[in-house]
Amino acid sequence: MVDWRNPPKLFIPGPIMVADDVLKELSRPPLGHRGKEYAQLHGEVTEMLKKVLFTNQYVFMSTSSASAIWEASVNNCILPNETVLSTCCGAFSDKWADVIAATGHKVDALKVDWGQPVKPEQIDEKLSSGKYAAITLVHNETSTGIMNPVKEISEMMKKKYPDVLIFVDSVSGMAGLPLKFDEWGWDVAFASVQKCFGLPPGFTVVAISKRAIEKSKKVPNRGYYFNFEEWEKMVPKNQTLITPSIPHIYGLHYQCTKLLKEGMENVWARHKNMADFVRGWARKNFEVFCEEKYASDTLTAIKNTRNINVAETVAAVQKKHNVIFGNGYKKLKDITFRIAHMGDISLDDLKKLTSWIDEELGLG
Ligand code: PLP
Repeated sequence: MVDWRNPPKLFIPGPIMVADDVLKELSRPPLGHRGKEYAQLHGEVTEMLKKVLFTNQYVFMSTSSASAIWEASVNNCILPNETVLSTCCGAFSDKWADVIAATGHKVDALKVDWGQPVKPEQIDEKLSSGKYAAITLVHNETSTGIMNPVKEISEMMKKKYPDVLIFVDSVSGMAGLPLKFDEWGWDVAFASVQKCFGLPPGFTVVAISKRAIEKSKKVPNRGYYFNFEEWEKMVPKNQTLITPSIPHIYGLHYQCTKLLKEGMENVWARHKNMADFVRGWARKNFEVFCEEKYASDTLTAIKNTRNINVAETVAAVQKKHNVIFGNGYKKLKDITFRIAHMGDISLDDLKKLTSWIDEELGLG
């Protein structure tokens, strides 16, 4: 029988391990969410998140996982007669397109092969039809380990399609990869906190532009829980619409304080440094799955060129060292495996993990 009280340390690409000092922060006593103490906490976290995301617009905290914002972005900002262009390069971006269709909105998918990024010129070609009100982008495709060229895409959008809204899933990017919300002209960007923020799952940070909030006011049937206009009304009070997960907000306060002390440029460089190490190891023993120029700095998907039994290797390393790394995702299940290098995972952790995989496979 397994013992959930003694879980393995997580190197899967989310949820990732949560450091002991962070876990301690989560166990502070609850606050009344309409009280002054909560408002103080909420205001401080929101101000720090704005610095982390380089925005002077809106940052909200959603007591939900990130997938909720896949729906909320279109339910709030897209009129019934409008169409969304959803860019797809892996399991999560594909799913987002499906979810938009499930909301009843019109969506076209721009699909590239898994392992390839979405390029600005491909989006440009589609948008030149004039058909689309918004595009969706996945900053970092967790299934394939690709980092999309979001800065270049954003620059192209600004120059050629300034009226088209940009919705970005930065679930495995935010707080680990360069992200400049205002400069890049994004309208909605979101991440759940179990990745680069190094917190337990179930909570999401959402940045929204002023123009997206204004547009949402014209869109019918937006519901209540994820209604951006209702969220905006709470801004002057430093409160959320509903009872929030306050332990997550304690955790975010702690993690944002650390991120800002380190400096975001240094945070991004630290992730790149860990990625360089893991990619070096992957290159020596296997191959990096995706086109290397676009390989992610927060997780590496490794091509199983040795045809190892991924599930058995993960299980054997877990049995000896009580850690787990990730198998491949969906159709990449056995042909890749994945190692996370984000949040409070350290270079030392990664050196140990890769040496244990070497030991198990007789590499080195
Ligand atoms: N988008 C990406 C890129 C992801 O990696 C994930 C989860 O791994 C999700 C969305 C879904 O996030 P959540 O499980 O927090 O809803």
